[in-house]
Amino acid sequence: MPAALAQAQSGGRSIPRTVDVVVVGAGLSGLYMLHKLRAQGLSTVVLEANSDVGGTWYANRYPGARVDVESFGYSYSFDPDLEQEFEWSERFATQPELLRYFQHVAERFDLRKDIAFDTSVTSAQYDESGRRWQVRTERGDTVTTRFLVMATGSLSAAKMPEIPGLESFRGVSYHTAQWPVEEVDFTGQRVGVIGTGSSGVQVIPLIAEQAAELTVFQRTPAYALPAHNRPLRPGEGTSAKSDYPAYRKAARESGFGVPMEPPTKSALEASAEEREQAFEEAWQAGGLTALVGTFTDIQTDLDANALAMEFLHRKIAEAATDLQTAADLTPQYPFWSKRPCLNTGYYDAFNRPNVRLVNLQREPLTEVTGAGIRTSAREYELDAIVYATGFDAMTGSFTRVDVRGRGGVSLQEAWAAGPRTYLGLGTVGFPNLFMIAGPGSPSVLSNMVVSIEQHVDWVSDAIAYMERRGLATIEATPTAQDEWVDHVNVLASYTLFPGTDSWFLGANVPGKARVFMPYAGGVGAYRQKCDEVAASGYAGFQFSS
Ligand code: NAP
Repeated sequence: MPAALAQAQSGGRSIPRTVDVVVVGAGLSGLYMLHKLRAQGLSTVVLEANSDVGGTWYANRYPGARVDVESFGYSYSFDPDLEQEFEWSERFATQPELLRYFQHVAERFDLRKDIAFDTSVTSAQYDESGRRWQVRTERGDTVTTRFLVMATGSLSAAKMPEIPGLESFRGVSYHTAQWPVEEVDFTGQRVGVIGTGSSGVQVIPLIAEQAAELTVFQRTPAYALPAHNRPLRPGEGTSAKSDYPAYRKAARESGFGVPMEPPTKSALEASAEEREQAFEEAWQAGGLTALVGTFTDIQTDLDANALAMEFLHRKIAEAATDLQTAADLTPQYPFWSKRPCLNTGYYDAFNRPNVRLVNLQREPLTEVTGAGIRTSAREYELDAIVYATGFDAMTGSFTRVDVRGRGGVSLQEAWAAGPRTYLGLGTVGFPNLFMIAGPGSPSVLSNMVVSIEQHVDWVSDAIAYMERRGLATIEATPTAQDEWVDHVNVLASYTLFPGTDSWFLGANVPGKARVFMPYAGGVGAYRQKCDEVAASGYAGFQFSS
């Protein structure tokens, strides 16, 4: 299809007025989507709110940010030369290294020329008669497109907490997911961090090293598992890269998108010695999934889970030297019933004299004041506050754009009782709209790169299928969507996830429907289902010609 398009001048940059595909977001999903669509001869523009590529890795540039899947696995597999040429330096790559990787990808495939940066999409409206989407940006551009791909990320809509007085603080406030590009120096400052999820667990040790005083405001403690991060040894990269074909295949067929031997035994059937050995080996191996992968029932049975909890509680008690602090850092909810975190120096930070932990379950946070943070017990004076308070996860990046499908119905209205999708790829009432790693797909329960590549491949194949047959629109059928939503719920009900408040359930956003959003059946089973759907001529989707 010719890419010669009418151009609208906006902010000094040309944005085409009409394209085959608009992709929203130039993160992991958007970059690969652009590369694929371009290869198919489709005119494509990527609209990106940030000033450069990287998506979540562009925005989350707080100190300590690093990936919690091993670097070799957290990388694209679509190009064998790309796989071989990039040199990772640590077991778990830091945010600056990940950003360098995405910049390298953008340059290598000459992607930037079709990306409009600093271009925030405000709305997308489906025009039923023309069967086109009208996409509008904050800068006033309108782009008409056949297909709309929301590559907006599962964890990109930053969430500030509902605490009175936020605006009154006279110091400087930061959100981990909206970190400034300029370096932030906390030297000599009194810093408060609210939040002890993955972002808090990563940023706290680094701020502790710099600040004069660090006060951590913790509402719910995290299970922080050892990363055992380290620089890669000479030759380690070459050897890992030579195994890539087998490694990628195993990742695609796995549960979490990382190669793993599935467990065969129940924790309840194992002897105490066997359990201790398995847990200890997993602890020594490090990583997010080793421990939950020791036995078949850690994630599904409360009694089995309690055995893992007891092991973890002992580890936390050993790590934090102050008894009260250790007790406060110990989670009481089942392990992996909300997402655990990867620890690089987290518990050690609380052994430093300049760090104190405030247990908000004992002294609830009441307000932010001009001078700092007040709890029911006292006021803590601060120079800076870091909100590590997470995201409106999985749906926020879609619903923050005013997306309106057939009949002018907004995505927000359609999903008022929780997101409804078929395969996490499409949703009824929104023809030709694709989601990458949408709710109802494994996304956040997996190595995101594995899930994203699978979705991008599936979407580009579906568009190619339509092009070959001269089909104008694709849309999920209500029956297929209802059945898929039920299936996703049934899978979640086999796990311990629904019993603990978490962002997986939307519990961190007041008023958000409590629905477990990701697909918990594993990336292997999910891929198989998506492949079957495609092979059958896209069963569960309807086309118009
Ligand atoms: P999060 O897991 O949602 O954690 C937010 C933290 O803020 C929680 O401790 C929460 O407490 C606390 N909080 C929220 N509102 C509060 C309030 N009003 N008062 C006091 N505390 C409040 O967010 P996150 O740490 O940004 O992580 C989100 C997800 O992003 C992770 O689970 C992970 O999937 C991903 N992530 C990945 C990496 C990585 O790959 N390395 C790094 C960062 C994030 P409650 O638990 O009590 O609500």
